[in-house]
Amino acid sequence: MKLNENITGKTKLLGLFGNPVEHTISPQLHNTLSELLGIDAVYIPMKVGKDSLGEAVKGMKACGFLGFNATIPFKEELLRHVDEITEEARLMGCANTVKNIDGRLLAYNTDAEGFVRSFEEELGCGFAGKKIALLGAGGTARSLGAKLVAKGAARLHIINRTIKKAEDLAAVIGQNTAGICTASDFEDREKLRDIIKSCDIIVNTTSAGMHPNTGESPLGGDMIFNGNQLVYDVIYNPSKTMFLKQAESFGCRTANGLGMLFYQGILAYEIWMDIKIPEHILRNVYTLFSNYLRK
Ligand code: NAP
Repeated sequence: MKLNENITGKTKLLGLFGNPVEHTISPQLHNTLSELLGIDAVYIPMKVGKDSLGEAVKGMKACGFLGFNATIPFKEELLRHVDEITEEARLMGCANTVKNIDGRLLAYNTDAEGFVRSFEEELGCGFAGKKIALLGAGGTARSLGAKLVAKGAARLHIINRTIKKAEDLAAVIGQNTAGICTASDFEDREKLRDIIKSCDIIVNTTSAGMHPNTGESPLGGDMIFNGNQLVYDVIYNPSKTMFLKQAESFGCRTANGLGMLFYQGILAYEIWMDIKIPEHILRNVYTLFSNYLRK
């Protein structure tokens, strides 16, 4: 037995604020990256009291952390406690990554870019000129919706159970692009069917169908796809939601949110370390990551 020398006074400090954090897999991802890249850093999960985010952020600064992530329920509130916010994160209304640059905290949103990278890689298509249905109007919908508009979507139909939230979101992310965003709910089935059939891409950002409610689908059981659509569900547990099964039964190509989860972490790590992670390491870590989640 010899002394454990893994962490020293020179080790770079990284972490995650969330509540709960018991089931996070971010430490496994980031600590494996550091090990494979030979970077002296450690990433720890921290359960922060619901009213204590401000104090926790000050603590990160005082202790000289290089950076940290924030997850549920802190992604929106985080914007109030940092020194600077990227323009994109401001439009998205939330951030999940902070970098400490010489004592100033800069907040980024890597969720949406993580989604883009996963979608393009797995489904082989971008968003420019596409008609897109975005299901949901919560935090994830806002991040992804803003990104899809920025990526040149021709039309973004925001469809949500609570119509008011869909309307508000369409107004926020459509503010500089008149006529691209529309809002509706799931109630008018004929209108909904027309929208879904007319779209090239359908993205679910609702939590309908997420474990343990695996029998639910945001669109209900009677939806018709045109078979050519690319369909993405940000949920990754279960790996194939009812929504994705429905789409596949019409011949649509699909992907789940595992790649988004992976890439939002990769992008955060690249921001903190100011590096581009080599492709062969990405492949290696993705295999470890997806096998770990399947356990
Ligand atoms: P959120 O802000 O609470 O929004 C939840 C959304 O889901 C709302 O639009 C809500 O509609 C809708 N919804 C909930 N239950 C529904 C149901 N039974 N039928 C229809 N709509 C329903 O949550 P969020 O943070 O955006 O997260 C949404 C999902 O994204 C979660 O499943 C989360 O795990 C997943 N996610 C995945 C990743 C990833 O990396 N893959 C990253 C972030 C989030 P109302 O407005 O009507 O309530």
